[in-house]
This record gives sequence, C-alpha cells and structure tokens, in this order.
Amino acid sequence: MESLGDAKFTETSILNEFKPLDPEEFRKQAYQTIDFIVDYYKNIETHPVLSQVKPGYFQSTLPSTPPYKPEPFEKILKDVQTQIIPGMTNWLSPNFFAYFPATVSTAAFMGEMLSTCFNSVGFNWLASPAATELEMVVMDWFADMLKLPSTFKFSGSGGGVIQGTTSEAILCTLVAARDRALDRIGSNNIGKLIVYGSDQTHSTFVKACKIAGILACNIRSLPTTIDLDFSLCPSLVCAAVEADVANGFVPIYLCLTVGTTSSNAVDPIDQFSDVATDYGIWLHVDAAYAGSACICPEFRHYLNGIERVDSLSLSPHKWFLTYLDCCCLWVKNPSLLIRALSTNPEYLKNKPSESNLVVDYKDWQVGTGRKFRSLKLWLVLRSYGVENLQSHIRSDVRMAEMFEDFVRNDSQFEIVVPRRFALVCFRWNPDSSLAPAGINVEIMNRKLLDWINSTGKIYMTHTIVGGVYMLRLAVGATLTEEPHVIAAWNLIKEAADTLLVKVMQIC
Ligand SMILES: *Cc1c(COP(=O)(O)O)cnc(C)c1O
Repeated sequence: MESLGDAKFTETSILNEFKPLDPEEFRKQAYQTIDFIVDYYKNIETHPVLSQVKPGYFQSTLPSTPPYKPEPFEKILKDVQTQIIPGMTNWLSPNFFAYFPATVSTAAFMGEMLSTCFNSVGFNWLASPAATELEMVVMDWFADMLKLPSTFKFSGSGGGVIQGTTSEAILCTLVAARDRALDRIGSNNIGKLIVYGSDQTHSTFVKACKIAGILACNIRSLPTTIDLDFSLCPSLVCAAVEADVANGFVPIYLCLTVGTTSSNAVDPIDQFSDVATDYGIWLHVDAAYAGSACICPEFRHYLNGIERVDSLSLSPHKWFLTYLDCCCLWVKNPSLLIRALSTNPEYLKNKPSESNLVVDYKDWQVGTGRKFRSLKLWLVLRSYGVENLQSHIRSDVRMAEMFEDFVRNDSQFEIVVPRRFALVCFRWNPDSSLAPAGINVEIMNRKLLDWINSTGKIYMTHTIVGGVYMLRLAVGATLTEEPHVIAAWNLIKEAADTLLVKVMQIC
C-alpha cells in the first residue's frame, strides 16, 4: 500500500515536471504547427470561403468542462482541423471578396512570431527600448513612403504610433481634441462640443464619441449624395460649423475619410483645412483601407492637403500585407495626445522617462501594455521594399479593373459608383425584356448574393448607399489571382441566369 509520504512525493515531482516553456518541446510543437499552417494555406481552396456552420455548432462538439489532465498536442491540433476549421470563414481564401481583404505575407508572419517570441510589454521606453525606437523608425519610414510632410515625423515635429485598430486611433485623437477644447472652455461645457463626419464615416466614429463623452445629439453626420460620389461636401461642413458656432456650440473635430467602407468615397481633404483652421477644429483623416495605396504616385493625390490636417490613420492589416492587428496613426502635435492620455504612477517611474528624452507609448494609446507591433511592419518593409509593395497594390487594382470591365460589358449588370481602388460596387439590373416588370431590383440582388454565398465558392458582401442596394466585390486577398476573379464573375453570372429562370417560372 502507498504511504502518505509517497503520495506527497509523487505530487511534488509532477509539479516539477510541468514546464510551460520547455525549449525542446517548443521546437517540436512549433514545427508541427508550421506544417499545419502550410497545409492549411496550400489547401485553403478546399474549404468553403464562408463558414457553413449554424450558430452554436461548437457547443455540441466539446466536453462541457475543461480537461483536468493534460492532453497531447497532436490531439489538440487534430481538433483544430476537424472542429475549428469548419467554423472558420476563411479570410485568406483567394475566393474571399467580402468587406475589405485582410492581407498578409510571409514577412509579416515572421515578424509576428518574433514579437510573440519576445512578448515585451513596451508601455514605456525602458520596458522595451527596441520596441519603442523601432516603432518610431518604422513610422517615419512609412511617412516617407506616403510623402507625408516632416510635421508628422519624429525627425520633424510630430510622430507616429501603432495602434490596434482605427477605432482606437479615432478615440485617442478625439480625446486629445476634446481636452484641448475643454482646457479653454472648462470641463463643465462638454455638452457644447460638436463633432462632424459624413453619413459615410465609419460607425466606429460614433462609438468613439460615445466613449469620449460627446453627446449623441452633438454628432453631425452630414448627408452625402451620388452627385459627389458620396464624398463629404465642404460647403455643408462650413454651413454646419457656422450654424453651430452661432448657436453657442464649440466645434472640435472633423473626421474625413479616404476610401469609405461602403463604397470607397474620398473626401477632398484640402477643401476642409480653412474651416478647420478658422474654428480650431481637429482634422482627422481615416484612410484605413485606401491609405496603403497612397505609396503609389498615381494614388498619392488622394492625400493632397494632408499637410494641414492634425492626424492620419491607416491600417496595414487591411491592404499592407500585415497580420492583424496593426493601425498606423500619425499626429502633428503629439503633446496634445500625451496631455490627454498620459499617466504617471509611481510603479512605472524611471530615469529615462523623467529625462524627457524618450517616447513612452503608453501615453499615446488606450491601454498601458502594448505589443511589439512594429516588428512585423519592419519585416514587411525590409523584406519586400517599396518596389514590391507598390506592385502588390497595382496588381490588386488591375484585377479589380478587369472585374469592372466584365460588369460594364454586360447589359444585365451595372457599376453603381466609380471604382477608385480595388473595390467594385455594382448591381444586377436585368432589362425589362428579361425580368418581368415590377420585380424589385433590390430583392433580386439580395437573392443573388444569398445564392452566391451559399455555394461557399466565393464570399461577397453588400451595402446600401444613397438608398441603393449594391454588391461589393473587394479584390485583393493575398492569394487571389486573375483566374479567381474570372471564376467569381462566372459564378455571379451563373447565379443571375439560375435566378432569372426561377423568376420566369413563378410569373
Ligand atoms: C475598416 C475601417 C474602419 C474600422 O477599422 P478597425 O481597425 O476595425 O477599427 C474604419 N474606417 C474605415 C474607413 C474602414 O474601412
């Protein structure tokens, strides 16, 4: 019989054997994982793009309690294959044309692995000097690629920071603008602060306003129209600002967009700087998706006027081959951001911070801890060079142009708004000789989209702009090549033909 002493001994030795980071075990599992990833990427087209599972599918496949005893890695990996992958909407599939693509690359993956390897929590310079300084260098490099003026660079009078998402970038700059105004008019006047955007500004702007304490009734969401391709009209902004000021309100922030989420509308940045200067309004440009294209000379004009804005954000996790999450934010006046967001607890005090010679990025963002995100962007920039990054953008745009031509040359379909980047907004609009009169175009397009996505062969999404329901084909998933775009068009045509036959049968 086992004595009590023996049992205790056994218990202790198990504890000693538990090594969460054993280097050789790590090597073994990491190689297995890499093999798994390579196979997934190679075979990605065998999975439906849009996951076909039903809500709650996972609950039935797993035990209801966590395992008490350890399980082998091979078994867990097998479950990823059989239980996780069926529930994945495969964003990296070359047949993914929904939303905006989340582009990736080998370089960014290696960067992601390395930053995960260090797991540095670089809230201030001292906690991770390399993470801080590389981020400063990379943000200045990227600013150069976009031909931003030196006022946005550390080597000039500004600086950049990598946030997780555009939502955080907007929130942080909004809070900086809010506090600048409240310093002047007193914090009890927060109810007087007014912010401006268009009805095409991303929904996260309204969320940021809520978090920042801007009253919902003080958010001016100015209407756009098809005449201006759904871009914000400068004279509308002037009129709204003047009316608000006349009524005793205080305008603080205008959010412009280069490449709106719905239809890639571009607000003409340079036409808002006078009103912003006159009324002390913080001008922010949200170029989450389309900003990456501005590294190409032929697209740079969309940033004309950028020298007079206060901040610009764009997300390399959208169109710049960088794994989620990565949003670059440049500000002209970092001290306003720091004034609004800095903290100085005793437990983080240190000599470099007190010397004021270093950047402490915790004062530029929502959180305290932060990932070493610049590493993946640095790897992308170094591994590919501006040359390849420009041709990456151009190749996506060329494929979108090809699709646009398919649509234009087909009398059953039409382009709804002009294509600017690699997003094509179009709709099915069969002429009345084919489709029976009185059939609603919107309903037909909804049915078309459902039919297409239910095949699992491609995934597309829709939007409604100016009351018009339209289909969005966003080209540019990293693995997408011309034949995928051609196949997507053929599938759309097949869907239209199939549905037309059905409609005829009903009538
Ligand atoms: C995608 C997108 C956003 C949202 O970005 P997150 O990083 O997910 O917060 C904001 N604005 C525009 C124009 C976008 O396209």
